[in-house]
Amino acid sequence: MSGGFDVERVRKDFPILRQRIHGKPLAFLDSAASAQKPTPVIEAMSRFYESDYANIHRGVYELAERATLAFEGAREKVRRFLNAGEAREIVFVRGTTEAINLVAQAWGREHVATGDEILITHMEHHSNIVPWQLLCQEKRAELRVAPVDDRGALRMDQFEKLFSPRTKIVAVTHVSNALGTVNPVREIVRLAHERGVPVLVDGAQAVPHGRVDVRALDCDFYAFSGHKVFGPSGIGVLYGKAGILERMPPYQGGGEMILSVSFEETAYKGIPYRFEAGTPDIAGAVGLGAAIDYVTALDAGAVAAHERELLDHATDRLSKVAGLRFIGTAPQRIAVVSFVLDGVHPHDVGTILDREGVAVRAGHHCAQPLMDRFGIPATVRASFALYNTKADVDALVAGLHKVREVFG
Ligand code: PMP
Repeated sequence: MSGGFDVERVRKDFPILRQRIHGKPLAFLDSAASAQKPTPVIEAMSRFYESDYANIHRGVYELAERATLAFEGAREKVRRFLNAGEAREIVFVRGTTEAINLVAQAWGREHVATGDEILITHMEHHSNIVPWQLLCQEKRAELRVAPVDDRGALRMDQFEKLFSPRTKIVAVTHVSNALGTVNPVREIVRLAHERGVPVLVDGAQAVPHGRVDVRALDCDFYAFSGHKVFGPSGIGVLYGKAGILERMPPYQGGGEMILSVSFEETAYKGIPYRFEAGTPDIAGAVGLGAAIDYVTALDAGAVAAHERELLDHATDRLSKVAGLRFIGTAPQRIAVVSFVLDGVHPHDVGTILDREGVAVRAGHHCAQPLMDRFGIPATVRASFALYNTKADVDALVAGLHKVREVFG
């Protein structure tokens, strides 16, 4: 137990962590890719399927009513979680990727024209690059990229210089998945709004590590995925300010998003339903609601202190491994360590670590331009969540010494 946070108690909530892998205790250090699920989330979803399941919004019978209440109840939980002003500002989507595509298509098609510019950063995940590239190709617009420094922090001086009268939107990650860098989002929003430019924030890596307040950030859009915040995969959220969402055309057409349809003319529902065509992941929303209940019941300060301790411990121990070079040492970081080992391919590191029960990610982390920036094809990434312990870090370090024994 450290700083009032009882990690052993938390670990009991995550049944998957109890197993051994290749005969070794599992050290799960890949939560940035997807986090594990606590029992309350698993139970909320099976309970929903066992007793309340039906399609939503359409039925006149009891189960449809209950399912609709559960789905809309989850929307309200997300609203509170992000401190959004209204539940209609919360659009359920498949995940961060779909949220960004929705904005790039529905908002971008109307607002971006030939010669306009979209401003992103060098540390974006592919899902905050490619949707904008597609839009730029379609509109003959330009993607402008703000550089990062050698530690992996955003060059704010350069960022500001990249605005022009043609800048139509800024899309920036709150936290880098590959390096853990936390961006000064409030400041970015202020700079953009001074110029009348809206801001989309990719919050996929931020929501699992602390409270996010979209009204304090004053961002126009905020996207995150359920599966990274201890909820199920297949469900995620796009927050958008009501004033902007209301003026956006639909993203996809289909059932649920219309008021009336004829072959001559279709009238759309208001927000958020206009953006939720088709049957959504109903149980996924219920699971996400349970995940939000789970994390908000924990002491956020104590969780942050625990994760900080893990990061400090990992940084200290890893820096003693021969030939290890950290990639990403920005002063503002969450508990992610990315590194390369001299003379060993990250995939080989990952494979040997797996034999020791240590699950890490090895690759480009869907951030190839960022890897290019550092002149490497890939890194090994260990990412920590609230259920990790110093023993997990020590298993990682011991595993790396084994890698050194194999490769010299
Ligand atoms: N942005 C960031 C920063 C991410 O880490 C991820 C997931 N790795 C995504 C976007 C995409 O999330 P999803 O695959 O859940 O849509």
